[in-house]
Amino acid sequence: MSTEKQDTSKSKGASSTETPSSQRLVDLPDTAGFSTQGVHAGERRQKPEGAIATPIFTASTFTFESTESLLRFVDGHEEREEYGRYGTPNERSVEAKLAALEGAEDAIIYSSGMAAIVGVLMTRLNQGDEIVFFDQCYHRSREFCAKHLSRFGVVTRQVKTGDFEAMDQAINSKTKMLVSESPTNPHLTAVDLEQFVAIGRKHNVETLIDATLATPYNLRPIEYGVDLVLHSATKYLGGHNDLLAGVICGSKDALDPIRSLRGILGSVNSSHNMYLLERGLKTFELRMQRHNENGQRIAEFLDRHPRVDRVYYPGIDSHPTHRVAAAQMRGYGSLITFTVKDADWKETSRIVDAAKIPRIAPSLGGVESLIEQPLVMSYYHCTPEEREAFGIADNMIRMSVGIEDGDDLIDDLRQALEA
Ligand SMILES: *Cc1c(COP(=O)(O)O)cnc(C)c1O
Repeated sequence: MSTEKQDTSKSKGASSTETPSSQRLVDLPDTAGFSTQGVHAGERRQKPEGAIATPIFTASTFTFESTESLLRFVDGHEEREEYGRYGTPNERSVEAKLAALEGAEDAIIYSSGMAAIVGVLMTRLNQGDEIVFFDQCYHRSREFCAKHLSRFGVVTRQVKTGDFEAMDQAINSKTKMLVSESPTNPHLTAVDLEQFVAIGRKHNVETLIDATLATPYNLRPIEYGVDLVLHSATKYLGGHNDLLAGVICGSKDALDPIRSLRGILGSVNSSHNMYLLERGLKTFELRMQRHNENGQRIAEFLDRHPRVDRVYYPGIDSHPTHRVAAAQMRGYGSLITFTVKDADWKETSRIVDAAKIPRIAPSLGGVESLIEQPLVMSYYHCTPEEREAFGIADNMIRMSVGIEDGDDLIDDLRQALEA
């Protein structure tokens, strides 16, 4: 995308404003590749003191030279910072980079992925409105809708993931938004975005995809016409298991009111985190290439292993949505869910405990491999009926494959399965 577009991704834009040379962004060709964008997009060409890395701005407020300069700002003749809750230089730099990577006009950073989801839904939904969700989704998104949006009279309708007919039928005149993840967590179901968008357009309802598990390297939902793309940047985008962040991408018109509400909700991020995220994005393509390679290799290893019953990974033929994923995605990422043949939950725990390289933790998409048993990690307090409804089996293991050497991970999994 052009730097002109990136230049407009400021909160208080005024089209009549000339960009001062100190604010000019790196001028990339429209044909710039993914890593060229990852390294350079959204960054100022000349930074303070000539620093090549974006400095960490620790200010909560930004000073005005005089009342005259304040008036230039409040009259909309100057784009600049004002107060940290409305955005910071470090957030803006990362927002412009993420917008470029996503192929979106604009992006808004949040304190976490959940804060991004809450920020969007709180902006768009009024009392009496409805949203339709595909049922395989991040359990806290579901909880926010079921327990909290309901308090404000918003109705959430859940339909079976991938059942477009059911989604079509669940829409009525009060429906404001269609929401899905792709691929979903932890079943890795890829959603056919052409069909998803077609239903949204038919009913004139906004579409939102949580593409955290795909990342813009593997899937670009905006190219299919999806209105809003959301990520937990805590995962692959940050990539080092050391920060929390969320981002929402879309057109400037769609995002402007969402950004305004963020300024009230205060779900902004810290400049230090933004520094880490910007740094992480410089190696994003390299990390994703290794994640994709390791993910595919380990999924295939597990698929062949006699102790493994079923593997959920969109890159293997036996996955029910492999064809959808193959048509839409560049690679399949590194989240793999599998079930252990004839194992109860305790036997399954023993395999998790026997693995030496992957550490037991929630989260995914970082350089360190992580492993967990969904029953224990996220669904322990659910009833067996609820777990069955969510498709969480006792003998299920979820692994987020890191960027370690694939051979080491395979050897380690083999010894854990055969211990
Ligand atoms: C982790 C995750 C979230 C929540 O993001 P946080 O940064 O943890 O708030 C939302 N959606 C998906 C698919 C996730 O994996």
